[in-house]
Amino acid sequence: MGAGLSGLTAAYHLKERQVLVLEANSVPGGVCRQGSFRGLAYPAGSAYFYYPGDPAWQAWYRELGLPLADALVDEPVSALLYEGRWYPDCFSQSGFRKLPLPSHAKDGVMKLIDRLAAWEEDWDLIGSDSLPNPELDAISLAHFLEREQGLPPQVTSIFAPYCRSCLGAGPEAVSALAGLFFLMAEFSKESRIAAFPEGNARLAQALAQSLSPPVCCGHTLVSLEPSLESVDLLVWDSLSERGYRIQAGVVILAQGKFSARHVLPSQAGWDIDVFQRFRYSSYVVAALCGSISLESRGYENWVAGDENFSDFILSPRIPKAGEPRVMTVFAPQPYAQNRAALLRTPPEEKAKAILIAVDRHFPGTAREVEEIHLYRFGHAQIVPYPGFLSALKGNIDQRQGRIILANSDLEGLPCIEAAIVQGQKAAHQARILLMG
Ligand SMILES: Cc1cc2nc3c(=O)[nH]c(=O)nc-3n(C[C@H](O)[C@H](O)[C@H](O)COP(=O)(O)OP(=O)(O)OC[C@H]3O[C@@H](n4cnc5c(N)ncnc54)[C@H](O)[C@@H]3O)c2cc1C
Repeated sequence: MGAGLSGLTAAYHLKERQVLVLEANSVPGGVCRQGSFRGLAYPAGSAYFYYPGDPAWQAWYRELGLPLADALVDEPVSALLYEGRWYPDCFSQSGFRKLPLPSHAKDGVMKLIDRLAAWEEDWDLIGSDSLPNPELDAISLAHFLEREQGLPPQVTSIFAPYCRSCLGAGPEAVSALAGLFFLMAEFSKESRIAAFPEGNARLAQALAQSLSPPVCCGHTLVSLEPSLESVDLLVWDSLSERGYRIQAGVVILAQGKFSARHVLPSQAGWDIDVFQRFRYSSYVVAALCGSISLESRGYENWVAGDENFSDFILSPRIPKAGEPRVMTVFAPQPYAQNRAALLRTPPEEKAKAILIAVDRHFPGTAREVEEIHLYRFGHAQIVPYPGFLSALKGNIDQRQGRIILANSDLEGLPCIEAAIVQGQKAAHQARILLMG
């Protein structure tokens, strides 16, 4: 159930079985969405991934026909607009040093980067049932930076757009462990970022295309009835506007827990109240389409200090004369009133606010915009708030009877690697169950 990356990965690893993937949306991919403007593909949701160092992961991408080497992003990967000036390569020691910060702040961050490099040796949060340095999950990233590291609030504000975009909330509202884990990957000398023109939608499409029968889009799971031998499902088909029943030997629920808790009956075995502890961010992505002439300072361009958006990607990165260009603007919604505000604000109003904010930083851009494509994600990403990872890891069974949970939210971390690992684990559990 659910054709996001976790559900598609699970189905891919069970291809030798009779697998049916049902997806509520009209297209597979979940938050990995592709947009298109005059034939130009751009990321309309999840955009980039880490080039896998592990040969098994590399082989997996190759098996899916994904040209990993071509996807490697050119340097500088990241640039930060801070107090009106661009700072390319901001997530490196040399790039960070150029920021207009007091020297004690820069020295403190250099020490932190060294610590992150040391932690990188043994921190493996994704796929693991336990936490390294659990004490860091009890506090927020802002608390860690300012109180424990003695760094000034400017440093926190520099990491704020990154946190809002990648972790669904600002540094004061995300766990220090989760924040540092993500920043570790950004500052790492080992890891490299890779991206396809249409973002991670390419990966979702490769997985979806490998499935037969194809993903049934517009089919929403309404309820589940597990028994000893099978699971009965009630599904709504939005195309024919009819409900139908279906029976499965095993069900993998690869949807977020905000939705899973509504379809799981109490006898399924989980304490449904536990799923109330899962908090989600919401997100607007605005694709500004036209003849955008703005220079792309990095692949990922971060903007500090603007509540309207956090970062943007330009496709293509280097403009070609006379060809269309898209500026994908990421606008995470202020956490915690996020979803209500998103529903209240008409899309046109939201698009206008983003356009005005972009034009304030980059005058003249609004004039070059011909179309705005707006994407709204109500439950975009799991938010690893302080204490959540400790409550989660090893404490929620992935399987009860014939129902298996997947989805990146079960790792507590919003990234594609978490979704893929969840899908792989779910497929493994299903295979054991079906063999038995
Ligand atoms: C705007 C944005 C940008 C991001 N950028 C990045 C990035 O650059 N790099 C990165 O690593 N991560 C990024 N992420 C996070 C990452 O992409 C996600 O964590 C991951 O793709 C989630 O996959 P998933 O399968 O766990 O969940 P989802 O993608 O949410 O998939 C769940 C699917 O279940 C379906 N569903 C829900 N309920 C039902 C039902 N009742 N019946 C049938 N189907 C149902 C949904 O429609 C959805 O398709 C981003 C996230 C967002 C929102």
